[in-house]
Amino acid sequence: MNLLSLTIKDASEKLKAGVFSCRELVVECFSNIKKHDKKINAFLTLNEEKAIKKAIEYDGLIKKNKDIFAEKPLLGIPVAFKDLFTTKDLRTTAGSKIIGGYTPPFDATVVKKLVDAGVIIIGKTNQDAWGHGSSGENTDYDATRNPYDLSRVPGGSSSGSGAAVSYGASLVGTGTDTGSSVRLPAGFCNLVGLKPTYGRVSRYGIIAMASSFDTIGHMTRTVYDNAKVLEVTAGVDPYDGTTVPVKVDQYTKTLGQSIKGLKIGLPKEYFVKGLDGKVDSSIKNSLKVLEKLGATVHEVSLPHTDYAMAAYYILVPSEVSSNLSRYDGVRYGLTREVFGAEAKRRIMLGSYTLSSGYYDAYYLKAAKVRTLIKKDFEDAFKTVDVLVVPTSPSLPFKIGEKTNDPLKMYLSDIFLCPVNLAGIPALNVQSGFADGLPVGMQIIGPQFSEQLLYKVAYLFEQETQYYKIRPEFKNG
Ligand code: GLN
Repeated sequence: MNLLSLTIKDASEKLKAGVFSCRELVVECFSNIKKHDKKINAFLTLNEEKAIKKAIEYDGLIKKNKDIFAEKPLLGIPVAFKDLFTTKDLRTTAGSKIIGGYTPPFDATVVKKLVDAGVIIIGKTNQDAWGHGSSGENTDYDATRNPYDLSRVPGGSSSGSGAAVSYGASLVGTGTDTGSSVRLPAGFCNLVGLKPTYGRVSRYGIIAMASSFDTIGHMTRTVYDNAKVLEVTAGVDPYDGTTVPVKVDQYTKTLGQSIKGLKIGLPKEYFVKGLDGKVDSSIKNSLKVLEKLGATVHEVSLPHTDYAMAAYYILVPSEVSSNLSRYDGVRYGLTREVFGAEAKRRIMLGSYTLSSGYYDAYYLKAAKVRTLIKKDFEDAFKTVDVLVVPTSPSLPFKIGEKTNDPLKMYLSDIFLCPVNLAGIPALNVQSGFADGLPVGMQIIGPQFSEQLLYKVAYLFEQETQYYKIRPEFKNG
């Protein structure tokens, strides 16, 4: 079996037909990890022994009952979890040494749902500590590298999950998206990555970054695979009061339906100076493909886009400073000195913007800007069905290129964080390649439009098939 070209859909069919076993699939994941992970550094903890044991157990189940797949829709599918998902009896670090030795006594809701659906946990993946970052370099455990070009970043903060799926260590990588962190690694690693509507997927058991922004998403090779995983993880959770009782669609059922007549909006504020010409032309080509599929393209305006980064970097550090205050050295052992530079920066910024005398001038004003940005999107969706924008203004950048300039690093998210301010869903699908590097494209829709986003992306992916271009581990 060649794991590099395998999808969940293929794997399920072949497991069902007995072409290979769960055990063989899992062994193949670990053999790829042994081959490549020294260079890529996608994993912080491996779960090899337990994973193989589970796989053998599932092979027995399949032998006894072929219909088991109806009960467990992701039976035998390997999953790599970002290291801020709590996993029972499996070390969880959030990419930080502050809680480096933590072994949780419980599973996050998403972990539990996936395990109940039959997945096999391969391990826990590297990330920017606490989710603060866009490149994977803010980890306390050495940066992860991009499998397409080892001298470049895989995108962050869910860096290890993106790299792991891309190089054949797993078929799903879970992530969190507070401002970019599922869509950017998906874009840089040639994957499909969804940031769902705020409240669509439970965050219970996730180490919090900024609670009014945090969402959970998955990275997979194809749109079908992504839709299949969301069918399992979406929905109300009594343990997370922000989950919304909106029916979970059968996302895979409408894939393949026509998008004739679909109105696509092109926000003019996203196609400006600073956007790499190669990214720009890749997106323009993709729009032509979408037009060929029956969509029409219309220019729209999101007038408050210029203020999005500023509002994000006041509101997010405010919530970060509050969430990180629990790691106070009394309850968790380690002193706050152990925090990395980025966490310290955000704790200081947030403490400042929340302090009396500054709260009205910064926090409250940013909260008002957030409302305006949300309204920009609502207004746009009165005239178009979805928006199409680049995922990143640049191609995957070099390791070290932005680490000394936090503002430059923050700007990697300029096309990504407005969606988190608005709480709406956005899907990264591959727009193509430039200089041998992946170029990501986002399809953005109104609240709870995940089914529509998948439908559009699926037809586009069937037409273009970029997901078949596998990494070559250049510059190793
Ligand atoms: N890069 C953004 C930040 O550093 C977003 C991170 C995220 O989505 N977790 O805040």
